[in-house]
Amino acid sequence: MAHIVVVGGGIGGIPAAYEMKDLVGSNHQVTLISESECFQFTPSNPWVAVNWRKKEEIQVELPPIMAKRNINFSAVGVKRVEPKDNKLVLNDGSELTYDYLIIATGPKLAFDEIEGMGPNHFTYSVCTTSHAGGCGRDWQKFVMNPGPIVVGAVQGASCFGPAYEYALILDTDLRKRGIRDQVPITFITSEPYIGHLGLDGVGDTKSLLESKLRDRNIKWVVNASINSVQEGALYYQVTNEQDQTSEEKKLEFKHSMLLPAFKGVDAVAGIDDLVNARGFVLTNDFQQNPTFGNIFSVGVCVAIPPVGETPVPVGVPKTGYMIESMVTAATNNIKQLINGEEPSHKPSLNAICLADFGDGGVAFVAKPQIGPRNLNWAGEGKWVHWAKVAFEKYFLRKIRKGKSTTVWETIMLDWMNIKRLKKKP
Ligand SMILES: Cc1cc2nc3c(=O)[nH]c(=O)nc-3n(C[C@H](O)[C@H](O)[C@H](O)COP(=O)(O)OP(=O)(O)OC[C@H]3O[C@@H](n4cnc5c(N)ncnc54)[C@H](O)[C@@H]3O)c2cc1C
Repeated sequence: MAHIVVVGGGIGGIPAAYEMKDLVGSNHQVTLISESECFQFTPSNPWVAVNWRKKEEIQVELPPIMAKRNINFSAVGVKRVEPKDNKLVLNDGSELTYDYLIIATGPKLAFDEIEGMGPNHFTYSVCTTSHAGGCGRDWQKFVMNPGPIVVGAVQGASCFGPAYEYALILDTDLRKRGIRDQVPITFITSEPYIGHLGLDGVGDTKSLLESKLRDRNIKWVVNASINSVQEGALYYQVTNEQDQTSEEKKLEFKHSMLLPAFKGVDAVAGIDDLVNARGFVLTNDFQQNPTFGNIFSVGVCVAIPPVGETPVPVGVPKTGYMIESMVTAATNNIKQLINGEEPSHKPSLNAICLADFGDGGVAFVAKPQIGPRNLNWAGEGKWVHWAKVAFEKYFLRKIRKGKSTTVWETIMLDWMNIKRLKKKP
């Protein structure tokens, strides 16, 4: 009987555990090790940050579901992966051996790379549901005594969509309250242009997102590197295409949310041949580590090179649909190895995303992720908001039922479905 261990109980890890169990049944053992007993639906964090959702509404208690699915579960967390010994050292000091390992730990949030940034200092974050909860508490106070807002994504960031979402959701919330006129909003980003998204744009995301920001009176700064943050102000420089960097400038704020750069988690950082210099897991076309052939990886923790050079470094986003395709490839390849076959499943790695702006939004499909593309489409409308709400409900229901989530495949990639949804106001 093979023992397959999945590390990380997020958008990659839970479906990986479910799909692995579906594939191997009771013939082999599947174990999921996370750091928390709760799954959190990260895409809804921006709603938690403006108190449109309670934390509990987007979390799922894992132990009873895992017991029902016959998946061993522990929330003790992994301290270190020891790939040469096929062993994990857990945070309580105990050890666990595996035959196959799926690393799905998501990112370590590199707030420490910029002085004064992050929820322990002067800016808020929506990266985790608990960060978003902290942001929501500040938001409650802010609306009683409003002032300038700065939202954005810093140098080396790879996840830009939630920054646009948060800026535009704040705008929607402020307009609903009738106090938008008291709040100058600035969007600051390391992207070379608005709508780049770490993907060199998708369809016409440049015009669409610029137009959205203009419509909503949101100023922007691109090619920005943030040097430091202090209480109520951040300091930044701008680098142009000729590699010339401006003098340091200052932006004042009363509320700020900045998305950090990501790196690999401590449990794998610095392990030769397993991870790159930034701690992201190295994988081949089959989601398999080229050196340790029994280790696979899915999600944000996987190493994917940037799409091209930019004046300020930006990374490539790893979004839900892309992660799902990694999960399907990794789990099927492990099953093949167990059966004595060679892995043959490759992830599609297409990017499909819904960015919600509170009362509308922008959706895009990049197939493949790096251009030139067969499908390079972006669209907007109120339907995006409702599609995202529907997607949240669908995904959480699947996780609660212990069923794997092929929702992106079924709902999002189907071009006809997108067209049909678009017609519905
Ligand atoms: C705010 C936000 C909104 C997003 N919105 C969208 C969206 O709308 N659509 C979209 O397609 N993508 C979106 N993304 C991108 C992506 O889908 C998410 O980041 C997604 O959560 C990534 O899944 P993951 O499993 O790789 O990592 P995570 O969901 O972060 O899960 C990683 C899990 O591993 C656990 N873990 C970490 N270290 C250890 C350890 N040592 N031992 C055990 N467990 C560990 C963590 O606690 C966590 O449970 C969003 C990202 C963010 C940050």
